[in-house]
Amino acid sequence: MKFMYPNGKAKALTFSYDDNQIHDRKLVEIFDKYGLRGTFHMNSGQINHDGFIRSDEVKGLYRNHEVACHGVDHKNPTGLSRPQLVRELAEDRKALEEITGSMVTGLSYAFGLYSPEVKDVAKSVGIKYSRTVNSTNGYFPPADFLEWNPTCHHDAPNLMDLGRGLLDAPDYIELPMMYVWGHSFEFARNNNWEVMEEFAKLMSGKEDVWYATNIELYTYITAIRSLEYTMDGKVVYNPTAVTVYFEHNGNMLELASGETLTLA
Ligand SMILES: [Zn+2]
Repeated sequence: MKFMYPNGKAKALTFSYDDNQIHDRKLVEIFDKYGLRGTFHMNSGQINHDGFIRSDEVKGLYRNHEVACHGVDHKNPTGLSRPQLVRELAEDRKALEEITGSMVTGLSYAFGLYSPEVKDVAKSVGIKYSRTVNSTNGYFPPADFLEWNPTCHHDAPNLMDLGRGLLDAPDYIELPMMYVWGHSFEFARNNNWEVMEEFAKLMSGKEDVWYATNIELYTYITAIRSLEYTMDGKVVYNPTAVTVYFEHNGNMLELASGETLTLA
């Protein structure tokens, strides 16, 4: 069996943008125009400050995307005591959940800094995944979602090549994904919005691409990793709340929540 993304799609594309500055508005406009989706990692302590997104626009602006944590005050997580880090992350979750009215369990590490202890604290306050700034230039899903290395920053000189590479991903990569990260203010500062516009044009409207947020990818891939099998691999059980899709002997099959399937 070969796993596929929801509805049998072959690959996934996601984005992650940090720091909730007002330039997110223009970036979201580009994403929405091209049907791309991603995650906006916010410092709740900056909301409503000059140059930052307002609390009353969060729900509307990011309606097609995920809102996630980046730390209340953008402190270096490796420089905080354990209780300070708990506050930096847990209070961020709480503030963002109040604003969005939904569960907020994603994170990107401020300054891309983390350690085994930081990961442990993040997990203990209910964070499911966290993005680093270590580019892989690759398409494999992460081994450890609390150390989710992106494919590249949008400024990578090979961004377009990496995009084409995803669209033409080799068969040996199961569940290929491309993950692009950055800050919307970089487009404003460098006056290069065309970088995202061009990339969006290249990647948009593909039948076999799942345009997903970070948490949607986390949830789907974690469900696949939670499937249970008989030792001979012929019987598979889905104990999760997610329907998973796979190809088997040339057929597209789906296995719904709680279902058991015997493979021919
Ligand atoms: Zn940041």
